Amino acid sequence: MSNEAGLSECDNPTKDNKKTKRDPIRVKVQGVEIGGRDVIVIAGPCAVENMQQLTETAISVRNNNAKILRGGAFKPRSSPYSFQGLGEEGLKMLREISNTTGMPVVTEVMDTRQIEIVCKYADMLQIGSRNMQNFPLLKEVGMTHKPVLLKRGMMATIEEFLLAAEYILSQGNEQVVLCERGIRTFETSTRNTLDLSAVPMLKHLTHLPVIVDPSHGTGLRWMVPSMAKAAIAAGADGLIMEVHYKPGEALCDGQQSLDLIEFRQLMKDLSKIAAAVDRSI
Ligand code: PEP
Ligand code: MN
Repeated sequence: MSNEAGLSECDNPTKDNKKTKRDPIRVKVQGVEIGGRDVIVIAGPCAVENMQQLTETAISVRNNNAKILRGGAFKPRSSPYSFQGLGEEGLKMLREISNTTGMPVVTEVMDTRQIEIVCKYADMLQIGSRNMQNFPLLKEVGMTHKPVLLKRGMMATIEEFLLAAEYILSQGNEQVVLCERGIRTFETSTRNTLDLSAVPMLKHLTHLPVIVDPSHGTGLRWMVPSMAKAAIAAGADGLIMEVHYKPGEALCDGQQSLDLIEFRQLMKDLSKIAAAVDRSI
């Protein structure tokens, strides 16, 4: 690959990536294209909780230019006693609201046994940080025809991240979007350390679109706008952000979720940043 990409060995940390460097591609999620001039914003709650929460949040983010709805039905929680998601009931709600709003939906698949059911309802499959090196899962989603949102493992190097993507690509599914969502460092003031240098590095090393998750990347609602703006300035093709109609009542990640007014204001500000780097939102 080094010859094809024109990269020297030291430029190129991924020695085995046969498929990750070609001309940049666009990943299609129903009618939405990630990787073009438009910066694509994915927004919605951390977890699907009930129809009212999902509907109010989805309609508001759509009216403020979010293009894809997010929401977890299967949640990877640190504690087994925390809310684990609504499962298939949540998937059905996502499908229903997708049909009424016209927004495609992305949701996490945590296990190979969930792939079939998630594919039945979702437009894009999310592989979460904790599963970035779940190789059987990567291979199986690589055999589906759904676009995949692959989040960086919290302890993963860029090389490991790209090799994880390679597992999906090598099975024939080329529709992969990479997501920087923060890594674990010695720093404890933020939930994770959002590695924005990953954005230009990944764009340099691969043909895949790169998006940023400033919600998990910081863990702090008040920091999300700054890092979202910085991500676009750094060249991200999109953002995924947690938004909740009542963050104080969220069953999951309320402290890092924007409310509807904050999201609306942020989207206005982001369109100025996008224009400054020759993109649109
Ligand atoms: C999420 O996006 O809901 C999530 C759990 O993120 P991550 O896998 O990045 O922690
Ligand atoms: Mn979350």
